[in-house]
Amino acid sequence: MIPVVKSLSVERALSPSADKFLVRQPTQEQAEEAVRTLILWAGDDPSREGLIETPPRVAKAFREFYKGYREDPDEILDRVFEEVEGYQDMVLVRDIPFYSHCEHHMVPFVGKAHIAYYPSKGVVGLSKLARIVDVYARRLQTQEAMTAQIAQVIDKALEPRGVAVLIEAEHMCMSMRGVQKQGSSTMTTQYTGVFKDPTEQVRFFTMVKSPAL
Ligand SMILES: [Zn+2]
Repeated sequence: MIPVVKSLSVERALSPSADKFLVRQPTQEQAEEAVRTLILWAGDDPSREGLIETPPRVAKAFREFYKGYREDPDEILDRVFEEVEGYQDMVLVRDIPFYSHCEHHMVPFVGKAHIAYYPSKGVVGLSKLARIVDVYARRLQTQEAMTAQIAQVIDKALEPRGVAVLIEAEHMCMSMRGVQKQGSSTMTTQYTGVFKDPTEQVRFFTMVKSPAL
């Protein structure tokens, strides 16, 4: 069944190719006022000395936490190197650290991403894969969506024979609130193309977990 009403995600709203509809950007004052309201909600006095400069600092920090909305992943991946002397085996970049915020509570989740692909038309600069992780991490996220988005954008830009993405993270909304389980980690994976083959998944996993040199 096709849902009649599709939710308008910020992803769609801000992506350059999306249908243009207005996302009203609040003013700096409005953002700072919202922070003062949340300080009051927490039970403190936003006018006391230690908190007086907090609203502008939070507004500034938000620009950094959520800078992924202002970046275009397709642009980052638009340079493909075709001269790789016939290299066709797996390219794996592992242990890419990231910091994100869960979209349900706006609380951090922190972890590592591992990305592999089998090149077909070419390879991309290795640092670009880390930047792609950052573009998606620096938005309001779920780990599941972020894993899928990273795999999809690489699949689209590089047209590789397959992409594998593994993300492991600790969610502060599990350790700080709710069930308060510290130290538990969540793993998510997304596979395309040849990585749908369980043998390839095992190879990927073994390489991700092999000891560092
Ligand atoms: Zn959460």
